[in-house]
Amino acid sequence: MINVTKSYLPPYEEYENYVKKIWENHYLTNQGPLLKELEERLKSYLNLEYFQIVNNGTIALQIALHALDIKDAEIITTPFSFIATTNSILWENNKPIFVDIEDENFNINVEKIEEKITSKTKAILAVHVFGYPCKVEKIEEIANKHKLKVIYDAAHAFGCIYKGKSLLSYGDISTCSFHATKVFHMVEGGCIVCNNEVINDKVNFLKKFGYEGNNYKLVGINAKNSEFHSAMGLSVLDHIDEIIEKRKQITEKYNYLLNKDLKKPKFPNEFKYNYIYYPILFKNEEQLLRVFKALNDKEIYPRRYFYPSLNELPFFDKIICPVSENISKRIACLPLDPYLTEVNIEKICNIINNNL
Ligand SMILES: *Cc1c(COP(=O)(O)O)cnc(C)c1O
Repeated sequence: MINVTKSYLPPYEEYENYVKKIWENHYLTNQGPLLKELEERLKSYLNLEYFQIVNNGTIALQIALHALDIKDAEIITTPFSFIATTNSILWENNKPIFVDIEDENFNINVEKIEEKITSKTKAILAVHVFGYPCKVEKIEEIANKHKLKVIYDAAHAFGCIYKGKSLLSYGDISTCSFHATKVFHMVEGGCIVCNNEVINDKVNFLKKFGYEGNNYKLVGINAKNSEFHSAMGLSVLDHIDEIIEKRKQITEKYNYLLNKDLKKPKFPNEFKYNYIYYPILFKNEEQLLRVFKALNDKEIYPRRYFYPSLNELPFFDKIICPVSENISKRIACLPLDPYLTEVNIEKICNIINNNL
């Protein structure tokens, strides 16, 4: 069976070596030594100034909204993402205002943002879909003009470098997910990247029930991560360059073997990619379903990612985003993980090419 992804596991002894330290330190959670070590190493690997680990990428988004005081507001966002993006907006008592996407690389269409801004709009929450950068300069310009905050759900953007900077360094806050299915993982985890010390300090309180020592500063939540998760993170981080290189080779093999009619996102200039996903756009939904059936018959399971378009979720009144709806119906991510063999890539490509 070949799934859309297979989580990377480091050599067992290497994980064990980190876990041994937990027994030596007798420190299991609450900003322990392994978490601090991982935080420092990631901060320098990604070259970021303000960087905090939390327990998942969804709570990272919720804390980001909280830290920027965005509640009872309208938030401009994209319908083409994982459901956690929209859920975090709703969970924090805000209203998502969907702006359709562009078909070049499936990110929010910056030309359509301003027409949706009202007196209630307080923020733009955009997603670097599949790790491809949003039009960050234009978004910043719109946000400055209308005094809006910018949050990026950068769950896919670990290790992506755009115009010489980590993609996680853009916006007032960027969040990332370190879930087991992502390029870098700590089983469950995530991070919050701020662009100034005041917000970074607030996030530090929010993630720990809102207090430190005897200083009960604000209403917080528990978003701390554990030493065991950090041990996994450290032992995965030791291999991150190999992991990304392997994914790159698989991507290049797909590029070489797959029928050239299959459309792929446009690769931006001045960009270093992390090869997190291999999305392809079919001509229409029938073609997608036909290829899926042929692959599933051979126990190969790509994923319809993202489907459906989030504006079509049952708890919204009818909102129309034609581009996102159209792309959602015919896009899929192919299997991509460091364990995928050449033989299997060839098998997948043959089945796809023969069923278009
Ligand atoms: C994975 C993902 C998340 C959520 O991350 P978790 O760590 O699973 O909570 C949020 N947004 C996007 C776009 C994702 O792909």
